[in-house]
Amino acid sequence: QVTAARWVYAFDQADPKNRTLLGGKGANLAQMVQWGFPVPPGFTITTEACNEYWARGGAFPDGLLDEVGLAVLRLERTSGKRFGDAFQPLLVSVRSGAPVSMPGMMDTILNLGLNDLTVRALANQSQDPAFAYDSYRRLIQMFANVVFNVSLEPFEHALRAAKAKHGVERDRDLPVDAWKELVATYLKLFAEHVGQPFPQDVNVQLELAIEAVFRSWRSPRAIVYRKAHGIPETLGTAVNVQAMVFGNMGDDSGTGVIFTRHPSTGEPVLFGEFLANAQGEDVVAGIRTPQPIADLAHTMPSVYESLVALAKQLETRFRDMQDVEFTVERGKLYVLQTRSGKRTAQAAVRIAIDMLHEGLIQPEEALLRVDAQHLRQLLHRRLQGTEQLPVFAKGLPASPGASVGRIVLDADTAVEWAQRGEKVVLVRPETTPEDIHGVLAAEGVVTTHGGMTSHAAVVARGIGKPAVCGCDGVHIDFETRSVESNGTVLKEGDVISVDGGTGTVYVGEAQMEEAKMAEELQELLAIADEVRRLKVRANADTPEDAKRAREFGAEGIGLCRTEHMFLSPDRVPLVQRMILATTSSERQEALAKLLPLQVSDFTAIFEAMDGLPVTIRLLDPPLHEFLPREDELEERLEALRAKGAPEDEIAQTEQLLRQARYLREANPMMGLRGSRLGIVYPEIYDMQMEAIMTAAAQAKRRGIRVELEVMLPLIGSPKELRVLRERMEEIAKRTMEREGVEMEYRIGTMIEVPRAALTADQIAEDAQFFSFGTNDLTQMTFAFSRDDAEGKFLSVYLDREILPHNPFETLDTEGVGKLIQWAVEAGRRRRPDLKTGVCGEHGGDPASIAFCEEIGLDYVSCSPFRIPVARIAAAQAAV
Ligand code: ADP
Ligand code: MG
Ligand code: MG
Repeated sequence: QVTAARWVYAFDQADPKNRTLLGGKGANLAQMVQWGFPVPPGFTITTEACNEYWARGGAFPDGLLDEVGLAVLRLERTSGKRFGDAFQPLLVSVRSGAPVSMPGMMDTILNLGLNDLTVRALANQSQDPAFAYDSYRRLIQMFANVVFNVSLEPFEHALRAAKAKHGVERDRDLPVDAWKELVATYLKLFAEHVGQPFPQDVNVQLELAIEAVFRSWRSPRAIVYRKAHGIPETLGTAVNVQAMVFGNMGDDSGTGVIFTRHPSTGEPVLFGEFLANAQGEDVVAGIRTPQPIADLAHTMPSVYESLVALAKQLETRFRDMQDVEFTVERGKLYVLQTRSGKRTAQAAVRIAIDMLHEGLIQPEEALLRVDAQHLRQLLHRRLQGTEQLPVFAKGLPASPGASVGRIVLDADTAVEWAQRGEKVVLVRPETTPEDIHGVLAAEGVVTTHGGMTSHAAVVARGIGKPAVCGCDGVHIDFETRSVESNGTVLKEGDVISVDGGTGTVYVGEAQMEEAKMAEELQELLAIADEVRRLKVRANADTPEDAKRAREFGAEGIGLCRTEHMFLSPDRVPLVQRMILATTSSERQEALAKLLPLQVSDFTAIFEAMDGLPVTIRLLDPPLHEFLPREDELEERLEALRAKGAPEDEIAQTEQLLRQARYLREANPMMGLRGSRLGIVYPEIYDMQMEAIMTAAAQAKRRGIRVELEVMLPLIGSPKELRVLRERMEEIAKRTMEREGVEMEYRIGTMIEVPRAALTADQIAEDAQFFSFGTNDLTQMTFAFSRDDAEGKFLSVYLDREILPHNPFETLDTEGVGKLIQWAVEAGRRRRPDLKTGVCGEHGGDPASIAFCEEIGLDYVSCSPFRIPVARIAAAQAAV
């Protein structure tokens, strides 16, 4: 009796839109079958079946095996072959496929359905019987490995021994008898290592394989991968059972991977690799180095032509760049998988704009095609001055970008060294999914084997780290922990520079150069600027930063921190004199010397931002920060005394030390800083305000349009702000009178103390704008020290998922965000034209920007390099 399907859907009957149920691979296979692409037939066991399997503590759901049986029957009918048949055996692959792509994280078994009987039928059918025995031995070892977790090594060893015995180098040169013998050896090895014989019953093979795929969902490496990519554990994996096609049937067969456009540059060319006479795993595993796809145009022109046509059709149908796995069996092309291809930020932008021009997608879609976070890749660094460095090795430019770091030879070392703050480059023969934690910890990756679609390459591009793959000339010696290339020997720990864009590895440390924006990026940004509502400003402290910010498209400065102006070496003595002053007049005297310097700083910034708003924050950090450390002063003093230095020099140092001790605080972040400083030492803010207004007046006289906003930091109570505002207004008035210039300006405050957020309605009486200083606000709301939390406990919190993400990177919308939202609403009730923005790290973080859009802030402000990211993210949030 047939009941309605619950767990199993054939490719031609499944609903391709249901990716959650079918997994990405299954959904796209179904879609391709239904669109008429050349895909071998098969069926998908749903993710729900996987979840049910786990819910039952590792038992198949009721009815699953019956449905599988029926689906196999149907497959037999479509293919004209029979599962386990002695004459026309049906062989299948059993493939995992989660709703989101997890390349190589879970397991696949090929050639299932072969046994001592069916292998003979397969051998009889083919011109080359060796192929049948080769396929069988592959099944045996894959089965041992995937289902029973047995190492591949004994099998690989037996294969090497057989080749040595027959004096051949390539697998394909082994004679049939050798393969037969190998199969016998493999069966013995299987029984030995697994503890039971290889299952000859094909239905048992299938059941065990399905179960192995279910179980692979919870393998340690899959769990690590999901954690790193924020993929929920609850998704489960689907299982795809599909009729086999054979890429290992001779030289007119093969298997490969193509990207329909270049995944590094985005150029509209076919890109990929092909291995003749090989089966699937051989390419991805990076064991044999495949040939570039372009070569196929010469070696198999008609296949190449079909590939080009296929790529075009897939793109038209899926409307995105595709990453396609295919196999050629005796000259006929089959698609085995397609998905949207992973790409670099550069490629993402280029492809989005090209597809827009090709009419494949709309402008807003083009915007959504780039991962804003990922764009940072483009806006950052390239190696510079590499001419001076010896080239260590050349390989494939597998993932662009640049990195400098110490060589580490395995993933665990990478993690260990990275945790103690070293920058490392992981150098491996190839990487496997087991190395994923090392790849994540490293600045970049170098491999000696494998091509552009090897694991290392795919993963590195996905996470935006530079990688150079297939450096044939490099030899890794794990005994001596060293690497050799062309006679040069480097040890683990030596520094190399990696250029993933050219595929070059240099000895030593190169300089980094910041990147420029490509035309396509400019175009995408122009689209973003039309779409977004949020303004994007920059955090810029110097005229150079301001200029750069403007080039990147900043619409103003959201945060100009004045303390950096105090820190240049020529000013530090003046600042210290100001701090050491014991009377107000002494302090004023020192400040008077700083005044003209501040005036010229501000003038240059106004000039750079002509016509755009500039928010200047008055001095914020505790004065302590401008003094040398106490222990340093103590040492200095000792040295001075020892060499009998002049009295006054000693006295001065003594006074510095006394003052440093006096200013020391147990909790400086909660101490005498921000507005408190302005209240206790009013002369400092007086000077700054005078400098600002003088500079503004001078600029105005020179025809520069100044839109000035003066910001008071770390306000906690409305009265604090009132006192300071009145004083600053007084100074402004005096200065304007002196300069004979009338000017508009705004006074506002940073909201970075929870109490300020809570009393925002009152604060808005004296503030014309709120700028949320989300770094401090996060620190104070969580009571997490920004400087200590990360190393001490935050990583534990993240590992154990007590926190979903680092709240200093991505705004905690539930807590900190609620304060912001409340403050905005309360503030606007009191002052409807209140301007609001965010000026912490979060101002450049796409997820946080989406929140700012949601609660209707006026702008975000971030570091100059983040501006393009913020422009795109703001637009994406508005779509
Ligand atoms: P992954 O998710 O790791 O890429 P796949 O399930 O895609 O694993 O399988 C890996 C490779 O195995 C495929 O790229 C393909 O080359 C080969 N393969 C899978 N199914 C078949 C099949 N039915 N016929 C021939 N080769 C197959
Ligand atoms: Mg695949
Ligand atoms: Mg602050």
